[in-house]
Amino acid sequence: MELTIAQKLDALLKLQSLDSQLDELIKIRGGLPEEVRDLEDDIAGFETRIGKFQAEIKTLEEEIERNRVAKKDAEKLITKYKDQQMNVRNNREFDAISKEIELQSLEIELVEKRANEAQFRVRGKEEEIKTTSAALNERKEDLKAKKQELDQITSESQEEEKEIIKQRDEQATTIEPRLLNSYKKIRGNALNGLAVVMVKRGACGGCFNVVPPQRQADIKDKKKIIVCEHCGRIFADVEGVPEPAPTGRGR
Ligand SMILES: [Zn+2]
Repeated sequence: MELTIAQKLDALLKLQSLDSQLDELIKIRGGLPEEVRDLEDDIAGFETRIGKFQAEIKTLEEEIERNRVAKKDAEKLITKYKDQQMNVRNNREFDAISKEIELQSLEIELVEKRANEAQFRVRGKEEEIKTTSAALNERKEDLKAKKQELDQITSESQEEEKEIIKQRDEQATTIEPRLLNSYKKIRGNALNGLAVVMVKRGACGGCFNVVPPQRQADIKDKKKIIVCEHCGRIFADVEGVPEPAPTGRGR
């Protein structure tokens, strides 16, 4: 049985409405997986940085330990030299040992200075770890919330999505293949996913270009399928009474 143009347009409009509902569901869900991935990337980056700081601290602590041992050795030598000084036979020997003691004292000063510098850098790294950890924890909290949101939206919308897809597929069978193909093609090219639109306030509901009054009258007549001359979308009907649009805000 051949459908009238009005029936065909009605079927197309129903299909469009179901497809738009699906688009909306996917849009709501859409941004979240990407946000979750971004957060996971951030977290991995922060963890790498913290690991690097910890490795640097370990190296610095080894340096501090080496300096501590060097200081102990120098102190032992000084004690030994001071003992030797008690038993010198002449001033020359005494002076020579004094020089050694002086050298070891300088060595102690040097290793203490190095240890202090290393200690200072350790504190800097610890500070960086603190800041990075705070940012890391913040991201982890965000991630937890986003994941929960995503799970909830996904499970909620999956049932709904299945139901709409079922209705959409049924609806599609009521439309002749040639018309359905045009519909799919127009929809594929439209950024907002609209292939079938109404004339609203004298303008195309898809691209907002003005539709002349005579054309609006033809669309209302539904003797044939009329598409927008600007964007190619199919006009289903005119909302309200056909009226001239004073301004078009179209492209
Ligand atoms: Zn248009």
